[in-house]
Amino acid sequence: MLKLVLDLLYPPVCGICGKIDQKELCPKCAIKLKQWEKAKLYAYPHTYFEKHFYLFPYEGIIREKLIQYKFQNQSYLSTFFAKSLLNHKKMSRILEKYDIIIPVPMYRKKEKRRGYNQTALIAREIAKAYKNLVYDGKSLQKIKDTKMQSSLDKTERRKNIKNAYKVINQQKIKDKKIILLDDIYTTGSTVNECSKGLKQSGAKEILVVTIAKD
Ligand SMILES: [Zn+2]
Repeated sequence: MLKLVLDLLYPPVCGICGKIDQKELCPKCAIKLKQWEKAKLYAYPHTYFEKHFYLFPYEGIIREKLIQYKFQNQSYLSTFFAKSLLNHKKMSRILEKYDIIIPVPMYRKKEKRRGYNQTALIAREIAKAYKNLVYDGKSLQKIKDTKMQSSLDKTERRKNIKNAYKVINQQKIKDKKIILLDDIYTTGSTVNECSKGLKQSGAKEILVVTIAKD
């Protein structure tokens, strides 16, 4: 009943064109989206995480939507991005094999100012779709207020983010197969720094999942 009322007040819209659509993606845009998809699963030998999966190249409409999502308070897009990942066949098979999903955390004050951590919203929706997958937005925390990574080059990025994350509950991480979720993968320094803490806490395996790759 509540869902019905909410749907009337705030009908679900297509995440791309904005038209009302129950599935958050209208048939026309679904076809377009398939063409943009360049899903890839990479193995990384020299990082703290084992693999990286992403869905789209960071360009065009996807870039536009991710920027809107991050900076223009359009939190409804979380469902759209979560579903894009969930509807991908390879991704859904991968998700079955992991224990917990952790969003790259924001510094607390920044999260309060924005009102939400955009990556956490997506991670929550993904976890809801799988019994085996538990959402954990607490064990990994950001303890340093850093500069925006996008304003820095590769070396500066690594320095900026160094020791910025901390695992506060090692028991929850130990021996777990972890999905670490972020919106965009650029140089990988953020997810690698997060993975360092998770591995030092005994994580068994880490798969980094991002919506897009720059
Ligand atoms: Zn559409």
